[in-house]
Order: sequence, then structure tokens, then C-alpha cells
Amino acid sequence: MKQLQTDVVVVAAGLSGLAASIAAAENGANVITLEKSTTTGGAANMGMGPLGVGSSIQKNQMISLTPGEAFRKHMYFTHYRVDARLVRDYYFKSGSTIDWLMDMGVEFVGVQRAFSAPEATRAYSDGEFTWHVVKPLDGGVPGPRAATAMIKKMTERAVELGVEILYETPGKKIIMEDGKAVGVMAVDKNGEDVEIRANSVIVCTGGFGDNPQMIKDETEFEYAKTIYNFAVPGMKGDGIKMCWEAGAGKEQPIMELMYQLPDNMNHFILDGAFRQPCLWVNRNGNRFMPEDQIANTTFTGNAIATQPGKVAFSIFDSKMLKKYKKKGPDIVSHVHPHDLFDHFDEQWNRDIENGYEPVTQADTIEELAEKAGIDVDGLVAQVEEYNEMCEAGFDEIFEKDRVYMTPIEKGPFYCCKQYVGAYGSLGGVKINHKTQVLTQEAKVIPGLYAAGTDACNIFGDSYPFILSGNTMGFCLNSGRIAGENAASELADEEWDYD
Ligand SMILES: Cc1cc2nc3c(=O)[nH]c(=O)nc-3n(C[C@H](O)[C@H](O)[C@H](O)COP(=O)(O)OP(=O)(O)OC[C@H]3O[C@@H](n4cnc5c(N)ncnc54)[C@H](O)[C@@H]3O)c2cc1C
Repeated sequence: MKQLQTDVVVVAAGLSGLAASIAAAENGANVITLEKSTTTGGAANMGMGPLGVGSSIQKNQMISLTPGEAFRKHMYFTHYRVDARLVRDYYFKSGSTIDWLMDMGVEFVGVQRAFSAPEATRAYSDGEFTWHVVKPLDGGVPGPRAATAMIKKMTERAVELGVEILYETPGKKIIMEDGKAVGVMAVDKNGEDVEIRANSVIVCTGGFGDNPQMIKDETEFEYAKTIYNFAVPGMKGDGIKMCWEAGAGKEQPIMELMYQLPDNMNHFILDGAFRQPCLWVNRNGNRFMPEDQIANTTFTGNAIATQPGKVAFSIFDSKMLKKYKKKGPDIVSHVHPHDLFDHFDEQWNRDIENGYEPVTQADTIEELAEKAGIDVDGLVAQVEEYNEMCEAGFDEIFEKDRVYMTPIEKGPFYCCKQYVGAYGSLGGVKINHKTQVLTQEAKVIPGLYAAGTDACNIFGDSYPFILSGNTMGFCLNSGRIAGENAASELADEEWDYD
């Protein structure tokens, strides 16, 4: 067995682990960071950018949102069911964290809210400009994976500060002595046990998006049956389980819901093309929400999750397809390509030919319902009612914006089955505003910190897209807070565990 000694051991070099490692090292600690995979960054390599409030970029763009206002908005959204002190500290730090990243050489293309669309369809019309989108490595148009550039700079900074990153060395167990965390047991790539003794342990392993059993045990969903979440390899819930085993209290984890197609990255054009305010129905053929609101992927994910079988179907006809091809989509996301419908036919034909399960085409509504697995009579009746409302120019059920009240009447008809999706899991380990891990009775476990997704219990039941970039924002800031506090414990004999 190898034995190592350091001041702070960080379990994982994902987004929060890197932030924790850098912050601890900048504050004078010797840091060893254990990383399960061969690279840093975890799920953050797939994203586009973090939240910040009060950054220099926002000030230069005259975005006047203050951390206090963001805090209040967040607490209102979560009905005060989450730790207000932690939320407060997060927002008040978040602006300086963007500047901290820029000092490391991270570049941002600007600040955005999550989607752009006419005001009426924009589920974030009350959203704030908080999403700091990272400038991609190639300097091109930002899209998925842009944040890889941020991870690269953070990794360089950690290495420059002397952080020792041990790759392919997963943390396995927190070493506890007299109720205090004093290190971590890990296994290196040759299968040899490694004992790392430290003054503090910071756990940041990114949740359990890649652990179907844990998803089943801890949430209402079943992977690849009722949820198609991003399952970033290695996110097995290791850190959460290690903390619980060490005596950490449990906050009930949730999935960070949205909606998406199975294997969506390989069907990305259709994933975006059917996110339109066309006709959305459930398995019984019934509408279930005003379609002009479907751009808020979290709310739509929630709505789909409450439908029979946890599925929905978005449908348009050939007239609408023609219009989308000519004028572009009604809802444009910053995630999907803006010229979606230029590529629609190619992907549609390929997916139909390959029998990709979510997509269906038919010449009549009856045939469409039959093929897609929607109740035939239900859909026929719904289309009839919907078309009558379109003709009358008013949606008397959900008051959907009349601009989008376009009848479904001319075949062929196109249908795409929509599933609940998720970016990953959220939360599980109970922490306080210093990111110290707490027991179920809210007593501090000395020496033990948790940050990032493993401890992200601050969203209540739904991701707050109104303050977008929030998961990365929380991961960065909770990691930074953990690193600073762990380092300050070294200097401060009087460290306060209450
Ligand atoms: C497609 C996609 C797009 C996204 N876009 C955005 C966005 O634009 N903005 C935003 O705010 N959020 C976004 N997110 C969410 C965001 O990326 C994550 O919330 C964030 O990266 C989580 O950070 P983390 O540090 O908790 O975990 P991660 O960054 O995922 O890192 C976890 C790390 O833990 C390692 N690990 C696991 N187990 C062990 C172990 N036992 N020992 C050692 N290491 C271990 C993993 O290998 C990984 O490196 C997106 C997510 C996805 C999937």
C-alpha cells in the first residue's frame, strides 16, 4: 500500500474539485487531487458556462442584477425550502468567481439568458443575464462543450500551483478517526491501495447520473425506461456514498430534469426541431400544457414526468414544416443549431429509415396515433378541438399565444416522442454554508467538506433556469468556498465547527 500525506485531499478533479483544489492551493495548502478518469472536468466538459452575478463582464454590459436580488429570486423560486445562508454566500461570491476564472485566462463570449425566442414563448422572459458562456477553444461559435476551454485553463492553473492530480485513482473511502475525517483510501491504476492522510477532505464526485440502480433507488425514475439522462461515465455516486458512510446526513437527491430524445447527441437536429410550440399531447392524446411555454426545458420535463408513462408527443403537419423550413423555428435555443430545419430532411429520413423509436410519420392522424402509440380516438378528438380553437383564434384551454395557434391539418404528419431527460443528479450530502459536511442532526463532521453536484441541495424540486448557468455556478463557488475553508483550517487553530 502506498502512503501519502498532504494538507488537503480533494476527491475528484471535475469542475467543483478543480475549483476546490485551486482555492486551497492559492491559500497555501498542499493539495492532492484524486481523479477517477484519465481527464479533468467531468460533465463540465459538455456544458457551455457558469452563472455569475456582479462580474466585471456584467458591469461592462450594464447588467444591473445584484447578488442580493439574485438571492431573493432564487429563494422565491425555491419557496425558501433550501439553505438561505448557503444560497446567499454562493451568489455573493459568484461575480468574483467569474473574474477569478478570467485571471486564470478563461475567456467568455458574453452573458446570456438560456434561450432566445419571441417574448411570449420565452420561458425565461423573467430570466436574468447570468449565464457566462465560455469562448470555445477554437474561438468559434459557442455550443455544447464550449466549457472545455475553462476546464483546460483551470487544470493548468491547478498544476501551476503544485496541485498533484492522481489520475485513474478513484477515492473509495473516507478515513475517520474520533469522528474526524483524516484522509481517503483510494486505488491507483495498477490496483494498488493508496492511503492519503490529510487535514481536510473535500468530496466533489459529480453525483450519480451514470448509476441506474441509484437513480432507481433514490428517485422516481428508471434509466432508459422513464428517463434518458446524460450518463457521463464514472458518475456513480461514489462521493455521496462515501460521505453517507462516514456519517453525513442525507438530503434527498433529485434528477436535474429537462426533456430530451434518447441518445440525443446523435439526433440533435430532431431534438431541437420538435421543441416548437406546435401540438403537444400525452399518451391519451390530450394536451397537457400551453405549448408556447415548452422552451423552459425544466418545466416541460416536470410536466412530461406527470403524464401517463412519463412521455409526451410533439406533432406538426407538413404546412408547418414548410413554414419552419422557410422562416426558421419559432423557438431558437442557444444549444441547438439555428439552421435546424435546413438539415431536417436529412436527419428525419435517416432516422425513419433506421427505425429510430421516437419518430413517426403518417398520412392521417389515425395512422399517426396508431404508429406512435397514442390513443387513436383521443388524438383524433384533440386535433379536432385544437383545430377549431385555431380557427377561432383563441386557445380557451391554456391560452397559448394565438400566434402559434396553427391547425394540424395537412399530411404527412410528423411526430416525435419526448422523454424526460436530465443533466445528471443533484444533491445528497448535507452541508452548511461553509460547505462543511453535516450529520443528519446538523452537527459538523470535522475535516470533511463536500461541494458541487454531490452537495447541490439548493434548487428545491426544480433547476432554476431563470438564473441560468446555475449548476456550474454552484459547483464552482461551493468548490471555491470548500477549498478556502479547508486551507484556512491549517492556519486557524480556533477553527469554528459550529
Ligand atoms: C450536456 C450538459 C450540458 C451542461 N451545460 C451546463 C451549462 O451550460 N451550465 C451549467 O451551469 N451547467 C451545465 N451542465 C451541468 C454541469 O456541467 C455540471 O453540473 C457540473 O459539471 C458538475 O460539476 P461537479 O464538479 O459536481 O462534477 P463533474 O464536473 O461532473 O466532475 C465529477 C468528477 O468526479 C470524478 N469522479 C467520480 N467518482 C470519483 C471517485 N470515486 N474518485 C475520484 N474522482 C471521481 C469524475 O471522473 C469527474 O471528473 C451541463 C451538463 C451536461 C451533461
